[in-house]
Amino acid sequence: GRKFVVGGNWKMNGDKNQINEIVNNLKKGPLDPNVDVVIGVPAIYLSYVKSIVPENIGVAAQNCWKVTKGAFTGEISPAMIKDVGADWVILGHSERRTIFGEKDELVAAKVAHALEQGLKVIACIGETLEEREAGKTEEVVFRQTKALVPAIGSNWDKVVLAYEPVWAIGTGKTATPQQAQDVHAALRNWLSVNVSGDVANAVRIQYGGSVTGATAKELAARPDIDGFLVGGASLKPEFVDIVNATQ
Ligand code: 13P
Repeated sequence: GRKFVVGGNWKMNGDKNQINEIVNNLKKGPLDPNVDVVIGVPAIYLSYVKSIVPENIGVAAQNCWKVTKGAFTGEISPAMIKDVGADWVILGHSERRTIFGEKDELVAAKVAHALEQGLKVIACIGETLEEREAGKTEEVVFRQTKALVPAIGSNWDKVVLAYEPVWAIGTGKTATPQQAQDVHAALRNWLSVNVSGDVANAVRIQYGGSVTGATAKELAARPDIDGFLVGGASLKPEFVDIVNATQ
């Protein structure tokens, strides 16, 4: 079976005080030991979080650049993320795609470089409301995934896919368990045809978009939902309930 994996994407939230509270709450847990937990931290706090968080909780950056170093003012590299002890990066989040104009090709280049440097990657995909209403959900998520295939190469075991429908992010409109399951199953089928049966079977696909302590259990019960990527609720005590949603 696929190990459940829950990510907390703090986005651009938190200060040291709030981070202390969040981390204390995670330490208190208790967190299901059969779940991988990863927290996605603003870059400036990666070192601080690494210094206070238990070893069993993964720490992720929320973005990175596509080369090791150089004249890229304001950017951080996977080498730097690793240097401060974090071992994950979230890439291709819809906010990066829409607000910061990241295209499939750039996301793929970042994924390739992050993997090459030894980071694990949470790679995000998902359709907008307009695309869903136009019946283009599968077309969009297949296109986004296809762009990642050459970037990932043989490193699928270092990648978690996060299906995050844009219309569900920060809106309080969680996808229904069936809506999410349908897309996850379609993605797994696409991977079996276009990558391999082994990858399709093994890769973990998270759902993200307004997941709460109240909605997590029903989503987690669906066969192709292997975890969550949580925004707003990852800043709150209920994140522990979301981690434990399969119990
Ligand atoms: P919310 O859980 O706040 O809807 O955010 C989801 C998300 O974008 C996680 O990456």
